[in-house]
Amino acid sequence: TPIISFKNVNKVYDNGTVGLKDINFDIPRGQFLVVVGLSGAGKSTLLRTINRMHEITSGEIRVEDEAIDRYKGRSLRFLRRKIGMIFQNFNLVKRSSVERNVLSGRVSYYPTWKSLLGLFSAPDKQKAVQALQRVSLAEKLYARADELSGGQQQRVAIARTLMQNPKIILADEPIASLDPLTTKTVMDILKRLNQEDGITVIVNLHSVTLAREYADRIVGLRAGEVVYDEPIAAVTATD
Ligand code: ADP
Ligand code: ADP
Repeated sequence: TPIISFKNVNKVYDNGTVGLKDINFDIPRGQFLVVVGLSGAGKSTLLRTINRMHEITSGEIRVEDEAIDRYKGRSLRFLRRKIGMIFQNFNLVKRSSVERNVLSGRVSYYPTWKSLLGLFSAPDKQKAVQALQRVSLAEKLYARADELSGGQQQRVAIARTLMQNPKIILADEPIASLDPLTTKTVMDILKRLNQEDGITVIVNLHSVTLAREYADRIVGLRAGEVVYDEPIAAVTATD
């Protein structure tokens, strides 16, 4: 069964704006899917419905073969722990250390009095180092987040999601504020996590060229609708 499936999904914002229109597709486990489309096409809305940051208006989204719409409390936390989220602006705590930022991925859904006081267990700290090694930034453990370059900050954000052992990573324009070289580094890391750890990755991008380089499959959105959905070979051949 697919890891994620959309059935007749519609999203209309409170002010009447159509976010998503009759979305139907399945995402197989382990796929590297890139969603492309102009600004306002609905890419961000699409990603945010998968972890219930946005609620849909009608239809059904299933994750690991369970409808997610009725999740609340514990089941919603479990869903969100399964899903790592990466943003364009990194969403790090700028004045905190890299270590603290990475560790926050571990505790965000289960705050305890220790974590609130900033006390982390030795195994958690070890896991943070391992997560940073996965993004080749172990040497920055004690640096302050805002001392790092944009690309390094995005890698810290990726390491933070690894603390959750995510099955899915959703990346919303993760390279929009990065230069071409850094873009490659970040996209390569996402690809490696997909290939080596089997994490299903969905990335929103503006650039079709970049999408072709990394995707197993490209879905194009326009005004909230899927306007194409092709495995990468077909896209390359017909474009
Ligand atoms: P981002 O997704 O980049 O973090 P926001 O969450 O603030 O930014 O908004 C996401 C998108 O939704 C943006 O394209 C923004 O223009 C649009 N948006 C947000 N709020 C509204 C609103 N009240 N009315 C119309 N569009 C909105
Ligand atoms: P993209 O990520 O492709 O730029 P979005 O998913 O952010 O597109 O936006 C899709 C449409 O929904 C746009 O018309 C946007 O303005 C609108 N939109 C997004 N968030 C909101 C919101 N919170 N309230 C109203 N409209 C929104």
